[in-house]
Amino acid sequence: MGSGVPPERAQPQRTQRTAEDAKKVTNLNQDAAGETGRSARGRGLVVFSRVRAVGADRVEINIYVLRKIMNKTFRVFATCDIGEAIDLLRKRGYELEVYPHPEAPPKSLIVEKVKSGIDGLITTLRDPVDAEIFEAGKGRLKVVAQIAVGFDNINRADANRYKIPFTHTADVLTEATAEFAFFMMGTLARKMWTAEHLTRENQWGYWHPYLPFLRDEVTGKTVAVIGTGRIGLAFIKKCVGFDMNVLCYDPAYENHAFVKTIQEIYDLRHARGLVREEGWIKYVGFEEALRQADFVSVHVPLLREGESATPTYHLFNEKTLSLMKATAYLVNTSRGPVIDEAALALALRENWIAGAALDVYEKEPLPADSPLRDPAITDRCRLMPHFASAARITRLSTDPDKGMAGRCAQGLIDVLESNYGGDVTKMPYVVNKEAFAK
Ligand code: NAD
Repeated sequence: MGSGVPPERAQPQRTQRTAEDAKKVTNLNQDAAGETGRSARGRGLVVFSRVRAVGADRVEINIYVLRKIMNKTFRVFATCDIGEAIDLLRKRGYELEVYPHPEAPPKSLIVEKVKSGIDGLITTLRDPVDAEIFEAGKGRLKVVAQIAVGFDNINRADANRYKIPFTHTADVLTEATAEFAFFMMGTLARKMWTAEHLTRENQWGYWHPYLPFLRDEVTGKTVAVIGTGRIGLAFIKKCVGFDMNVLCYDPAYENHAFVKTIQEIYDLRHARGLVREEGWIKYVGFEEALRQADFVSVHVPLLREGESATPTYHLFNEKTLSLMKATAYLVNTSRGPVIDEAALALALRENWIAGAALDVYEKEPLPADSPLRDPAITDRCRLMPHFASAARITRLSTDPDKGMAGRCAQGLIDVLESNYGGDVTKMPYVVNKEAFAK
């Protein structure tokens, strides 16, 4: 699938709405007249009076009214339930069909729904979206709104060829994902899973200076952060509280202003006597990061060969894993195929590294015969069910500034209701803006 950071990217693209934007666009949590709340009854009349009252600056509302007059409703198919945001879209007058099962619908069903003439498609990372889907929606499909920040399931080149904007839910899951990666690192380092099993299985009979085992502190250690985008930087902020030294690696965008700020915080903490040793942070090359780190945390998009000058597919393989210290730990909350799982299982079996904690896999859900399930490595391999963003507000808040559901629905609304004067390049949640540049 085509995806990821375009090679020409020099700066992170804008994904936050400004306060000014919020005033100008039609919002999920407002009714069509621009009022918050649930005044849907008799809305048609309210809308007409509001439009007259506010005048020509409410272009979006005029469009909404026009659509009402023409009795045209936006039809949307969602491949999964995104909670209350669905109700809010229905209250806006959208005709919404939601795939009722928790697992992903077959691709043939998505094609069939798109062919039936929907205006918008709500997807998630499990749904393959490519030329077959765009062809099925030719002439009618206007937007694909993805509830996830990663979009490696969407073929960007195909979307661009068919001129279909697709949106994602960056930023609102940044902190939840970063903290989960941090917790995974701690769980792994202190072997908490094994320790709890000992307790539950009645194998804990005494307190002893070094039995049943000792593990490594996180505090004061060196962590390599691979990919210093939104989540990588948020992860670093968590590491600061644990006095960790930070090696940053990102071939596409180095955020030196951020690094300078973190160093200033370290300097201040040291100057004020909060820490004995002064912490440090710096950008280094990939190999140096791997060789020096006690922990390596991965925060890159999945970029396959041909999609980027620096692809991330199997970035961690036998060669790169063998560069890590035998005492080091690897944490991956990015995408499964960034790590060659067969190579990782080998590295764990042969103790090239001390442990790994994974949230994402080459194939999800993790197959029953995965080498990562080898009982010989259970005590040093933590396996989570693609869970890093699974926090209540992060996943389901209908506020586009807080929740993935809200941001996903707002991305859909922006395109369908021609927010930002219909200029796709100004819509903050659209990913493939390059296809619409004049
Ligand atoms: P982002 O685009 O802000 O950051 C990604 C960074 O990786 C960018 O700075 C980019 O320059 C860098 N990068 C690209 N190629 C690289 C390479 N070869 N080596 C090192 N760095 C490279 O994205 P983000 O919001 O921080 O999200 C990162 C990824 O995390 C997403 O693409 C998604 O796949 C994954 N994710 C997973 C979960 C989860 O539930 N496990 C949740 C959120 C995001």
